[in-house]
Amino acid sequence: MNTASNDLPNDTPNGPADAALDDRDALYLRRAIELSAQAGHSGNRPFGAVILSRDGELLAEGWNDTLSGGDCTGHAEVNALRSAAPKHPREALVGATMYASGEPCVMCAGAIFWSGIRRVVFGLDAVRLRSFRQMHVGAGDLEMSCREVFATSPQAFEVIGPALAAEATVPHAAFWKRG
Ligand SMILES: [Zn+2]
Repeated sequence: MNTASNDLPNDTPNGPADAALDDRDALYLRRAIELSAQAGHSGNRPFGAVILSRDGELLAEGWNDTLSGGDCTGHAEVNALRSAAPKHPREALVGATMYASGEPCVMCAGAIFWSGIRRVVFGLDAVRLRSFRQMHVGAGDLEMSCREVFATSPQAFEVIGPALAAEATVPHAAFWKRG
């Protein structure tokens, strides 16, 4: 049986083992990964996000548009929240799940906190994401994991990830290679 790390490019450091997902989580994380590939194809950074209500209603999809949109805050998770929040009452977001193709950054973790969403499922972890950007750990990034951000809240969060890391890697392997 393949492990995620065996499927990763040679220059990608191994990460933690994939978390197990149930069928619904796998389905929507795969959709977020699909959106990440679309973002990459459009010339943006390859990140996608999906917000699903507790009852399984698709509340929003988002993808990174920082380059085409000219807004450095246009991360996939923030864009999904900006799409969902005006259309749905806060109660719909409380209890919803944020699916993110990559581990949410500090800004997105903060936005998730403010939205009321308390459950996150992500694909590729931040450490491996940084490796794609050819950056040394310690340079140019806010190196606080989303779990660390959420841990500063007295409210309980459920965070599942990394998961489907090999699949989540594919759009990054294609995108960052272009330089
Ligand atoms: Zn972000």
